[in-house]
Amino acid sequence: MRVLIIEDEQKTADYLHRGLSEQGYSVDLAADGIEGLHLGLEHDYAVIILDVMLPGLDGFGVLRALRARKQTPVIMLTAREQVDDRIRGLREGADDYLGKPFSFLELVARLQALTRRSSTQEPVQISIDDLRIDLLSRKASRAGVRLDLTAKEFALLSVLARRHGEILSKTSIAEQVWDINFDSDTNVVEVAIKRLRAKLDGPHEHKLLHTIRGMGYVLEDRRAD
Ligand code: CA
Repeated sequence: MRVLIIEDEQKTADYLHRGLSEQGYSVDLAADGIEGLHLGLEHDYAVIILDVMLPGLDGFGVLRALRARKQTPVIMLTAREQVDDRIRGLREGADDYLGKPFSFLELVARLQALTRRSSTQEPVQISIDDLRIDLLSRKASRAGVRLDLTAKEFALLSVLARRHGEILSKTSIAEQVWDINFDSDTNVVEVAIKRLRAKLDGPHEHKLLHTIRGMGYVLEDRRAD
């Protein structure tokens, strides 16, 4: 599968290039917006990974010009705090975004989700009992009531939901939701799980998020057993 990375920061570009090549993708690199747009229009990529801050033409300019002619799936790389950039990107036709710094595993998961979505039009909603998760609009609800989740809480819920019924270790969760160089001594996963659990299961008698002592966490509807 061929992907295009449009990123001027050499270190990030090299890191992505190496990582994605190892995952079996064939990778093209562009270090500025104009070259990136040219390549994006010229070739049919499975996904384009597009940085916002670029010399020549910024990410939004590239996206706008690209969308006038092609619907190649685009993941935008935004600064973590720039919520405006994310909203603007999604509004202008980006399919997904990742806040920098991002976890490589999260990027790969997003890439896989996007390529699956674009090739088979697979639904992007997950239902577990009365829990509904829309991975595209990034909304979740239980029993029809919207869950007010932070971006991290939503990411955590998505990771658990994509593999619901499976026990995920703290380390695995940490790698997928936080940075790849996560220090597993911290209790950040536990704290986040606690917050998510309060919102997800707090008001409900029927619990979906379970702790498996010494192993990790699992999201599942145990009433089905
Ligand atoms: Ca940049």
